[in-house]
Amino acid sequence: MKIICIGRNYSQHAEELSNKKPESPIIFIKPDTAILQSRLPFYIPPFSNQIHHEVEVLVRINRIGKYIEEKFAHKYYQEIGLGIDFTARDLQQNLKEKGLPWEKAKAFDGSALIGNWFNKNNFSDLNQLDFELVKNSETVQEGNTSQMIWSIDTLINVVSRFFTLKIGDIIFTGTPAGVGPVVENDVLEGYLEGKKAFTLKIK
Ligand code: ZN
Repeated sequence: MKIICIGRNYSQHAEELSNKKPESPIIFIKPDTAILQSRLPFYIPPFSNQIHHEVEVLVRINRIGKYIEEKFAHKYYQEIGLGIDFTARDLQQNLKEKGLPWEKAKAFDGSALIGNWFNKNNFSDLNQLDFELVKNSETVQEGNTSQMIWSIDTLINVVSRFFTLKIGDIIFTGTPAGVGPVVENDVLEGYLEGKKAFTLKIK
């Protein structure tokens, strides 16, 4: 399986990192080795002094497809989740300045936290989902999927033009504003429409 991540899908987050609003979705891939095994803590890797949390709504693909039309995209997933795209921001900044690929900063081992999955039928409108990240009992990121520049179904259309989507693939749909650093002993909790999606300790 592969993890497909979308960059700058919320304009306020693009602004906080002084990035221009993209004309089309920024797409990058994490390998399956990026998945943080469940119930394990996140260990700050030795190559970064600035690991940022990016809380994101996730979609799990349950049908193979390519060139999926937006109007049929909803047939390709049944579950929605919440996760974190951990980012070595110092390394990413360095790579961006040199125009180099981001993989070392974005796709390292443990960089993809995948929380619990929820059947999409639990939600009345996937384009109106509230989610938040709580760090040490304080809300640090809050978003609603209505703030996405490209909706879930639009993303499936765009992504599937480049990459065949296979059963089990996961799309990270981008982070809202409020990204920030994590340090040892932080505790992160994620909520999707008030439902607990994960609790994670930083080591
Ligand atoms: Zn992200």
